[in-house]
Order: sequence, then structure tokens, then C-alpha cells
Amino acid sequence: MPKSQDSVGRRGFLRTTATGAAGIVAGGTPGLGPTRLVPDQSAVPSDLTLRVKALESLLVDKGLVDPAALDRIVDAFETKIGPRNGARVVARAWIDPAYKKRLLADAATAMEELGFHRHQGEDIVALENTAKVHNMVVCTLCSCYPWPLLGLPPVWYKSAPYRSRAVIDPRGVLKEFGLDIGTDVAVRVWDSTSEVRYIVLPERPAGSEGLSEDALAALVTRDAMLGTARVTLTATEVRG
Ligand code: FE
Repeated sequence: MPKSQDSVGRRGFLRTTATGAAGIVAGGTPGLGPTRLVPDQSAVPSDLTLRVKALESLLVDKGLVDPAALDRIVDAFETKIGPRNGARVVARAWIDPAYKKRLLADAATAMEELGFHRHQGEDIVALENTAKVHNMVVCTLCSCYPWPLLGLPPVWYKSAPYRSRAVIDPRGVLKEFGLDIGTDVAVRVWDSTSEVRYIVLPERPAGSEGLSEDALAALVTRDAMLGTARVTLTATEVRG
């Protein structure tokens, strides 16, 4: 969505949220869902969305946050920060053994070398995939994700089936992503938290020896950095 249109939408929604929420409460009829109580709204936002918007409205009204600053932060995550940040980190690690060593020892500091900074103080750990170990990332509790490196999380990452099944049957889940992990390869599942996020350092594909750092980065997909895909010489489509 274009930035200007999005900004108008967010601000417009902020102005109407209180009215809409009040209408849901005031017009309440036992046994009916909220969407049926507000006939002019075809899609009532989720409870979580309403709570976030109400909190934002309160902070703005009290002068504790600048709405323009909030819009800039949201725009950065929606349009400027994405999987390409993580892909650049991976490509650098592939071509520079010393950087790879620093990345695996202290990923948060190593990514700052490339200009990617933590936004909320969370730690980030890089997990190396090898011929003997395959790492995959999940957040069983909610949707904790390495935003500075990968941008917004995909829908499937936040879904209940992935969050539960990734730890119960990781090989089965990986198979559904098209990854058949041999029994001689250990599968390690890492549960993200608000304090620690993870990024997978995928195996460099065979045949990529002559490629430049930029060309290598172009091959690295978001899913590969979550451990649900391999990197191949042909970049694969990213699931939403
Ligand atoms: Fe979480």
C-alpha cells in the first residue's frame, strides 16, 4: 500500500476507532457478534488491533508520543526493512570467514557492522546450518521474529499450526515446505522470545563459488533464514 494512503488509513482509523468501539458496546445485543452490531462496518478490526489503536490514541492524546514518529517507524518496517537485510548478512558470512566467525559468536554486534541495528534491545543469535545440522526458527508463544534483519513476519510464521507443529513434528513441517531432511541430519528447533531472536545461516549452495557478494545475497530467501527452505542457485518464491 502506498505510504500516503496507508498514513491516511491509520490516522483515519484512529479518529473513528473510539466511535466504532462505542457503537459496538452501546448497540450490544446478547448472542450477536460485534460485526452484526455495526452494520456500516463490513469488517470490524480484531480485538488486538482495537487495543493497539486505543493505546496509540491515548499516548498521542497525552503528548507522550509523536504521531509522525510512529508513522515513520511503521513505514520503516512495512517498506524499508525486509529480508534483504538478513540476506546481506548471510552473503557476507559466506564470503568472509572472519565475519562468519564474528556472526556466530555475537550476531547482534556483527549485523551492526553492516548497519543493521537492534530496535528494542533484543539479542539476536545466528544458527549455522551444515551437512549434519538443520536449524529452524519458531515462536511458540506468539510471533517473536528478527525484525531488523527480516522485516515483517510472514502469515504462516504467526499461525497456530506452525507454532505448535514446528516443535511436535519439525521434520513433518519441513517436508510440507518441500524440505526432506535426512535421518542423518539433526533438526534443531529454536523458540524465539522477546529477549532472543534467531536467524539461520543457511548452507551456501554448491556451484556458487564464482558469484559476487551481491549475487549471493540475491539468492538468499526469507524462508531460508528461518530454516524452512534451502538456498538454491535460483531464488525461490517467498510464501506470504
Ligand atoms: Fe513471540
